[in-house]
Amino acid sequence: MRIVLLGAPGSGKGTQAKRLKAELGIAHISTGDLLRAAVKAGTPLGLKAKAVMEAGQLVSDDIVLGLLEERLAEADTQPGYILDGYPRNLAQANALDALLARLQQPLDAVLKLNVPDADIVKRCEIRFEQEHRADDNPETVRKRLAVYAEQTAPVADFYARRGVLTEIDGVGEIDAIGGRLLAALRVRAAANA
Ligand code: AMP
Repeated sequence: MRIVLLGAPGSGKGTQAKRLKAELGIAHISTGDLLRAAVKAGTPLGLKAKAVMEAGQLVSDDIVLGLLEERLAEADTQPGYILDGYPRNLAQANALDALLARLQQPLDAVLKLNVPDADIVKRCEIRFEQEHRADDNPETVRKRLAVYAEQTAPVADFYARRGVLTEIDGVGEIDAIGGRLLAALRVRAAANA
């Protein structure tokens, strides 16, 4: 199964993607994780991405698409994958369409976690204290939410117009939200069958 998981920063995409990976036996591809690994490794690409990420802005489409293509060539993606954090704007949504057409890997579902901004700000404060992610400081979170509203929200409309988007209430217990995602995937799988 190939799934795109949409949602604002701090909406729980990473947490839920890890659960879906375990439940469904598919790969979890987080472009944020791929970029953080490049930053940590100090690769030329990581050096370029670091300042952009710390400012809460989007890394260039070319860089992220290159990382994604490399990741999709790895064997563990064959049974399927959850894309977490990609696509982040309409250009990336179109690039993903072209890439998946070329790979003959159509998407099975696009799920979007809905969480109010006030909850997001609180969650990121907690994550900032626990994980010390530089871009979780309150000021950068506000910037990331603005980038999300401006550039990423249209991606949900892009998939909604195509009739493949399912919106999920992302507020509540982690288990309950996980259950909602699995139920939505079952509905989607039946519709695709
Ligand atoms: P995330 O872990 O998904 O919240 O991503 C952390 C940061 O990595 C984002 O704020 C961006 O700076 C960068 N990033 C992650 N995914 C993408 C993407 N698809 N396009 C551009 N930048 C990205």
